[in-house]
Amino acid sequence: MFKITVLPGDGIGPEVIAGALRVLQAVQKRAGVEFATREAAIGGSAYDRFGTPLPGETQQACLHCDAVLLGAVGGPKWDALPVHLRPEAGALLPLRKQLAVFANIRPTKLHSALAEASTLKREVVAGLDLVVVRELTGGLYFGDKRREELPDGGQKVVETLEYSTGEIERVARMAFGMAQKRRGKLTSVDKANVLESSRLWREVVSDLAGEYPGVELEHMLVDNCAMQMVRHPRQFDVLLTENMFGDILSDQASQLTGSIGMLPSASLGGQVGLYEPIHGSAPDIAGQDMANPIATILSAAMMLRYSFNMEEAAALVEQAVEAVLEEGWRTVDIMQPGMRRAGTVQMAGLVAEKVERGRS
Ligand code: NAD
Repeated sequence: MFKITVLPGDGIGPEVIAGALRVLQAVQKRAGVEFATREAAIGGSAYDRFGTPLPGETQQACLHCDAVLLGAVGGPKWDALPVHLRPEAGALLPLRKQLAVFANIRPTKLHSALAEASTLKREVVAGLDLVVVRELTGGLYFGDKRREELPDGGQKVVETLEYSTGEIERVARMAFGMAQKRRGKLTSVDKANVLESSRLWREVVSDLAGEYPGVELEHMLVDNCAMQMVRHPRQFDVLLTENMFGDILSDQASQLTGSIGMLPSASLGGQVGLYEPIHGSAPDIAGQDMANPIATILSAAMMLRYSFNMEEAAALVEQAVEAVLEEGWRTVDIMQPGMRRAGTVQMAGLVAEKVERGRS
């Protein structure tokens, strides 16, 4: 039995989570496993009920389970709150820190049925299949920050970028391991021509390469990488980078596929993995059965793969998504002329039915 803490959150969060749970039920039937799910409050809806976006009970539930499945948090209703009470700053960042998930994994795959949905030419993105491995708990975002008053009346700001050998090594090992299981190519992205932190990054990653003989390692400067990603994205297999570069590049990579509603993520490295779609709470479409549940369903597939070691079941879910798209079913965000429109509930149901009928 696997214990899953489920955090629906705000906006479309509860809708897409319901879709993923429907698919997990189908996996239970097919694979003969048991998932014990426990729901907990997070985000704006938690603030409304408990006065905090990350209640202690939620923290405990996340620390004492086998995996956490999160919908999304936030919305205009809570934007005016002080930073520490806002859904993202007050709940998501502390949760990632508590779970010590130092690596964020974002697979970016263009489903062949959706090649026309990208803003890039079909010949550039067709067959695209890459993974960004982003360091998640170090670097500029977590370093000391301060402001100083200057004698001329202006201000000076100082932000600190720190990385230790150990922090670089552990996330690099994860990326090497991932490349080993995929096409065997690892691109480590840095700014070693300017930054000392990047020079250490490059040294540590290079030193590890000998332990992974099947993996071809290349180093690329981040500015060149941003350019290569729109010029010839299929050259990439696994991209490894530090926190801020990864934040920017992973969003850029996600856009190659044309739809934010399709892309999952996993945050790994601690005792408990955290799985969530890359999109937010989409308040503009919440409550209308319009949200695409596929990003959350594919996040659940990542949970099966990385937290439960259920590779076959994960592949079954991914194939079910492919099959439903091949049959022409589309939620509104990926709708194309001549296709069949499905709401959130129907889309999840179609995927679940395929899982139930598929091979396990
Ligand atoms: P968003 O990702 O919520 O929405 C951006 C656009 O994409 C919207 O037009 C939305 O309708 C659409 N969209 C997003 N997910 C979709 C889905 N599954 N199906 C169909 N369409 C989808 O980003 P935003 O509008 O910038 O932010 C809305 C709220 O979400 C804000 O409060 C923001 O802080 C929060 N947010 C939360 C997370 C998170 O929980 N991890 C991430 C990003 C933003």
